[in-house]
Amino acid sequence: AKGQGKGRFSFFTPSLQADALNRLRLSSELAGVLESGQLRVYFQPIVELSTNNIFKAEALLRWIHPARGMISPMTFIPLAEETGHIIPIGEWVLHESVRWLKRWNQLSHGGFQISVNKSPIQFRSGDSADVLWVSHLKENGLSGRNLCVEITESLLLNTDETTSRKLFSFRDAGIQVSIDDFGTGYSSLSYLKKFDIDYLKIDQSFVRNMASDPSDYALCEAIVVMAHKLGLKVIAEGVETLEQRDLLLKIGCDFGQGYYFSRPIPGEELDSMLTQNSGY
Ligand code: C2E
Ligand code: CA
Ligand code: CA
Ligand code: CA
Repeated sequence: AKGQGKGRFSFFTPSLQADALNRLRLSSELAGVLESGQLRVYFQPIVELSTNNIFKAEALLRWIHPARGMISPMTFIPLAEETGHIIPIGEWVLHESVRWLKRWNQLSHGGFQISVNKSPIQFRSGDSADVLWVSHLKENGLSGRNLCVEITESLLLNTDETTSRKLFSFRDAGIQVSIDDFGTGYSSLSYLKKFDIDYLKIDQSFVRNMASDPSDYALCEAIVVMAHKLGLKVIAEGVETLEQRDLLLKIGCDFGQGYYFSRPIPGEELDSMLTQNSGY
């Protein structure tokens, strides 16, 4: 670090150095992570609030590291985006999802849907992979409607050619699209119409305080009203209490997802949950 005086900024503190080293190590381990068998896809049920039915789940990545334990996707996804490893990892998430989809779709008589997260990096890479996504669904007796892609608002603010083309080809294949973390970005609502979006996911930061903060409550309500007028369904994220669930049902929110219902769990666990209390 340069500069000597009081109040100077130090850019190279020991902890930053350790952090950089840590990132470097993780990045190199990411290269072999698929082969290592340390990645898991967990699934978190998305519950229809008016019926308690589970016809949807979100696929969420977990890295179970032999020395470091569970590494959060918030740590390793940004690294995987920087290094490009997110592309093969994303393909693997789809394949794991399709493996379970076959079973859960049969259990629910054709109505199951898994949501996968897709980062802008995955959109901006060439499109051959996305054609394969559609054929992979078909080969497994599934249709586009069995898959939903979760994207963030920022992707739609600066859409390049490739991104738009992919979004439209998803729509043509019947694959649905959710806006994740809705309300946290700099929204320009015109994109909701332009890209034929299917779901808005209210960000958990609004759901967290909706019982105590009238403006968060109003915000959730306004999102539901607007979405419904535009023909979109709403999923509330981060539902942790019965009170939140009841308020969401009261304002007409369609789906809830959160620890109140279930944490993200391995496919085997969701499978037994679905077979045990299936009201299908
Ligand atoms: P996200 O898509 O917004 O996922 C929701 C996050 O909220 C998940 O964190 C989930 O475990 C957590 N969550 C669910 N219910 C509750 C709740 O009731 N309370 C609280 N406090 N949290 C709850 P997670 O699994 O750590 O994932 C973090 C982020 O990593 C995701 O945020 C997503 O952006 C990214 N991610 C995860 N898997 C993938 C993937 O396969 N591909 C890509 N591109 N990104 C992924
Ligand atoms: Ca998501
Ligand atoms: Ca989210
Ligand atoms: Ca649509």
